[in-house]
Amino acid sequence: MNSPEFSSLALKPALLENIASLGYTHLTPIQAESLPHILEGKDVIAQAKTGSGKTAAFGIGLLSRLDIGSFKVQAMVICPSRELADQVCKEIRQLARFTQNIKVLALCGGVPVAPQRDSLLHGAHVVVGTPGRLQEHLQKHSLHLEHLKVLVLDEADRMLDMGFADVITDVVSHAPSHRQTLLFSATYSDPIRKLSQSFQFKPVSVSIDTSH
Ligand code: ADP
Ligand code: MG
Repeated sequence: MNSPEFSSLALKPALLENIASLGYTHLTPIQAESLPHILEGKDVIAQAKTGSGKTAAFGIGLLSRLDIGSFKVQAMVICPSRELADQVCKEIRQLARFTQNIKVLALCGGVPVAPQRDSLLHGAHVVVGTPGRLQEHLQKHSLHLEHLKVLVLDEADRMLDMGFADVITDVVSHAPSHRQTLLFSATYSDPIRKLSQSFQFKPVSVSIDTSH
């Protein structure tokens, strides 16, 4: 197995340093399959089992697209649960840790909405949240997606299982149509394909076979 090294990717030096500081040297298989397409700005639908490194695949992708000088929301990750959103937030912050001033905000339900609204007023580059709370911020105009460049649907299969399809559709309707959409899932099914068709443009499909 010859998995590529992160240093072979055309990433900003600060991002490469952050990745190295986490002890990541080689791309995992799903990262090797998906990251080159993600970095080209393509829509990607990626399927691989839990624990295969999907977070860093989209995390590195979205961090490489940020204009740090602009405190507008440029990337949004939708997750099925608060626990997963917190994990994703943590990993993205770690991937950004020595890069100046990247603000990653968690917007999850189950906690008061007012502090999140205050944080949004101060600006954020990346928001990571659960469908219902993201919808609430959009409806109340505390979250604006006019400058969104990258939209990520993480654990899309779980979000569909939990009945979030309609809420997600509403949330995504607030995003600019000219954007990059990345869809990650542990399984690949007809409902996932349908979701991809409604949100993605000519997606590259990558899958890591785990049947043996
Ligand atoms: P998934 O979303 O596919 O379930 P995660 O993104 O949570 O998986 O990653 C699982 C673990 O692998 C995390 O602890 C993460 O820090 C680690 N990891 C991710 N990419 C790499 C890499 N290239 N090298 C080493 N560890 C990695
Ligand atoms: Mg994951």
